Amino acid sequence: MTSDAPLALSDAAVQQLEHCNKCGFCLPACPTYIETGLEVHSPRGRLSLMEAAWRGELSVDQGLAEALSLCIGCRACEAACPSGVHYSTVLEAARTDMVQRRRRWVIPAPAVPALLRLVRHRRAFRAAVRLGRSARRLPLPPSLAPLTAMLPVRVDSARAVAAPHPGWSGPAVHFVDTCVMAAMFPTANRDAMTLLTAAGAHLVPVPGPGGCCGALEAHVGHLETARQLARAQVARWERHLAPDTWLVAHAGGCAAMMADYGRLLADDAHSREPARHWASQVRDFATALAALPIPLRFRGTGTRVGLQNSCHLVNGLHQGGAPPALLAGIPGDALVPLAGQDRCCGAGGVYNVNQPVMAQQILARHLAEGEQASVDVWIVNNPGCALHLEQGVQARGGRARVQHLATYLRERWVDQAPRQEG
Ligand code: SF4
Ligand code: SF4
Repeated sequence: MTSDAPLALSDAAVQQLEHCNKCGFCLPACPTYIETGLEVHSPRGRLSLMEAAWRGELSVDQGLAEALSLCIGCRACEAACPSGVHYSTVLEAARTDMVQRRRRWVIPAPAVPALLRLVRHRRAFRAAVRLGRSARRLPLPPSLAPLTAMLPVRVDSARAVAAPHPGWSGPAVHFVDTCVMAAMFPTANRDAMTLLTAAGAHLVPVPGPGGCCGALEAHVGHLETARQLARAQVARWERHLAPDTWLVAHAGGCAAMMADYGRLLADDAHSREPARHWASQVRDFATALAALPIPLRFRGTGTRVGLQNSCHLVNGLHQGGAPPALLAGIPGDALVPLAGQDRCCGAGGVYNVNQPVMAQQILARHLAEGEQASVDVWIVNNPGCALHLEQGVQARGGRARVQHLATYLRERWVDQAPRQEG
């Protein structure tokens, strides 16, 4: 493709462009528009630019690349749109075309492609996390410094999963042990599995190491790689799981990606139907916990809790209601209402590596709101948000802790011997 050819978009993307009537209802929901107030940094502005480039009225150049690279891909505009425009379909298609033209639309950090390859190899990724943490204080090349700065101060050590209640067999659940969570937050994985088991889930393993769901690849416009990863996941589930098994993940971005497999593989005659089926089986951890048959009891410790809900969980999976409902029901703790609770924190997959200035600006707004509300602990449900918030709190010398929802709940769980209700 020549650099002056119009932007190539899929039919599905063009259809979405045609749905947009430029009403602007999406503007107040967009974190980058909130920060700059500029139309070019709004969903409507970006859709207009992509449309003009597709029509050949605007060249596919660095200007377009910059406007699109500042978009986090948080999908808040989709949730706010009264016409149901699926913005991310257009964005993904445009980014894919621009990546194919080898434009540096979103990859100013040269380490990002290597990072994406690395997360797919679990052992190597775990080793790299350990190495990266010890290298934080060393003088590093500018391309690596933002990556090591993001790493958690400590990697929590995994504790054992509590045994299931004898004789109890609830719905079959495959816990999707996602790659970043497995390497950096193994305790949160174990805590999630313990609580799911206690609430009546019958955990079903799938042999072999879980692959990557493809979310990070899709985020940066590597759609074909994302499709390959999605196909591999669907094939594993087809081979090893009963069709009514729930797929439960506690990383909002991954859960939203898996729930989108039907759309991602819509043109793949072989994988289309199984992809649709398994996408419908995806549940976020909190949603699954609330739907399981055994209610768990929790006791708070007088903590003021701020929630940073995963934007993909809210806007992509549409299961963002369960985490605040769970948190609001913990006696003894207080869930502090925050205006930014469901708004992207600026992490956005690898957005905070690619666009550190805007990512930090967005984060600062969230953290300042939490400080004003005297938040003691930030609850997160996505590893990218956990890393981004932890780094931000430390940089500001803040006192708040950052904890995954599963670990917070496990620490407050008092019903150590699950009861079968009814
Ligand atoms: S994306 Fe939706 S809300 Fe935004 S301008 Fe278009 S139609 Fe209006
Ligand atoms: S995906 Fe998020 S950052 Fe991008 S235009 Fe939509 S609301 Fe704005």
